[in-house]
Amino acid sequence: MGKPTGFLEIERADRKYRPVEERLKHYKEFVVPLSEPELKKQAARCMDCGIPYCHNGCPVNNQIPDWNDLAYRGDWKEAAENLHSTNNFPEVTGRICPAPCEASCTLNIDDTPVTIKTIECSIADRAWEEGWIQPLPPEKKTGKKVAVIGSGPAGLAAAQQLARAGHEVHVYEKNAKPGGLLVYGIPDFKMEKGVIARRVKQMEAEGVTFHCGIHVGQDLSAKYLESKHDAVLIAIGSEQPFDFFAKSPGRDLNGLHYAMDFLPQQNRRNSGEPQKPKTKEISAKDKHVVVIGGGDTGSDCIGTSFRQGALSVTQLEIMPMPPEKENKALSWPHWPLKLRISSSQAEGANTEYSISTTGFSGDDGKVKKLHYTRVNANLQPIKGTEGALDADLVLFAMGFSGPIESDIVKEFALPVVPRGRFKGLDATDRDYKLATSTKLFCAGDIRRGQSLVVWAIREGRQAAHAIDKFLMGSTVLPR
Ligand code: FAD
Repeated sequence: MGKPTGFLEIERADRKYRPVEERLKHYKEFVVPLSEPELKKQAARCMDCGIPYCHNGCPVNNQIPDWNDLAYRGDWKEAAENLHSTNNFPEVTGRICPAPCEASCTLNIDDTPVTIKTIECSIADRAWEEGWIQPLPPEKKTGKKVAVIGSGPAGLAAAQQLARAGHEVHVYEKNAKPGGLLVYGIPDFKMEKGVIARRVKQMEAEGVTFHCGIHVGQDLSAKYLESKHDAVLIAIGSEQPFDFFAKSPGRDLNGLHYAMDFLPQQNRRNSGEPQKPKTKEISAKDKHVVVIGGGDTGSDCIGTSFRQGALSVTQLEIMPMPPEKENKALSWPHWPLKLRISSSQAEGANTEYSISTTGFSGDDGKVKKLHYTRVNANLQPIKGTEGALDADLVLFAMGFSGPIESDIVKEFALPVVPRGRFKGLDATDRDYKLATSTKLFCAGDIRRGQSLVVWAIREGRQAAHAIDKFLMGSTVLPR
């Protein structure tokens, strides 16, 4: 523990955002890092609790008090090594994780948790700047071959662990670049894509082969892959969007789109990657935009719409507005339900709670209005509260139900149940192995259901542990 009295003497301070009017002019990151002296002070606030709840709050079990102490002492290299012992991509989680670790920090009982995410990001960014992050190829090859289908955070973390264990790893990805939602879903203003590209380069130098632009199940049979590899990890995410309005009036009007038809277009524009064939351009420029759904994806639609030049952005959430402050006695050290204003919402969106969409209407086949009703605590319509909003573009950000019901899922006859989980997982659920086959494993959103990047990294690491054990009889890979 760096400074025993640090938490008593030093106020919490965190990264600030660049002003809204400035950041809306571009798609680049806008978080201002803390200076080194300030970071050391913030790290000194860690109490090194006897029971560090942050270890468990963090899905990858980062050893937070240890690297807070190292950061306080200025031993950034050792801090980076410690951080990488539990997390393959801390520069990613340092940018876009909601930080359940901070919710579980003991100082959060007083609403002043250690700025764990900021310190994590600085340790990782510094390690890249100083050239401490180098490829770690294995000393010996095992002669075993593993296919990883899908290159989101789950697939990437698993591939890196497996390559370091000496296996020949082939990653198959339907998109042009590896990264999954890190590259095509999450906007550049939350995380610039060079962050992923340099990790991919590191992984290639460690022996991972990426086969991009290959849609397994369509361009290449999944069964063929299975026959040519000693193990196959399925990490294809949860891409099937919910559509609660399939039967609503006006659903066939132009101007109604899923978030994940909208967001990847902008990421591709930013990187200069051509749009997918037959893509119909979607733009928020000069439009009244309504985003349905109050989560991360909805926020990303808001920030992207403002940067494209939307006239207004309204976000609709069917659930009631959460309390501004959680009841600590009931929630700590768990993730609390409370009002959180995202950086995108703070850019000028109007968020409405307890509201449900009843339909759409328009002119010339184009949407012009979204019709709604207010709902009570049981989500039932309240008579007399009906109304309509201007809407030239409506974006559906209501979550994802599981993997797209096609190709791989059908080829392997995978027993998917709603919200993406598999029925056939081994009883322990820690093997990450599908009972339908001896060599099929799965990890990430396809296994957990729609979740978080940090959970996908954990899943990838655990699946790699299970695969290495399956192939070699024992494993030294950490979970
Ligand atoms: P994915 O990232 O979905 O990757 C799956 C990969 O498999 C994709 O690259 C896909 O192209 C590929 N694939 C699918 N089928 C095939 C096939 N048949 N053949 C070959 N390849 C295939 N979480 C956070 O923690 N913080 C955030 O800020 C955040 N923001 C988000 C914003 C959006 C818009 C969305 C949609 C999600 C967000 N999430 C966020 C959630 C997070 O991105 C996911 O939980 C995480 O990416 C899941 O990782 P994964 O590896 O399981 O799947």
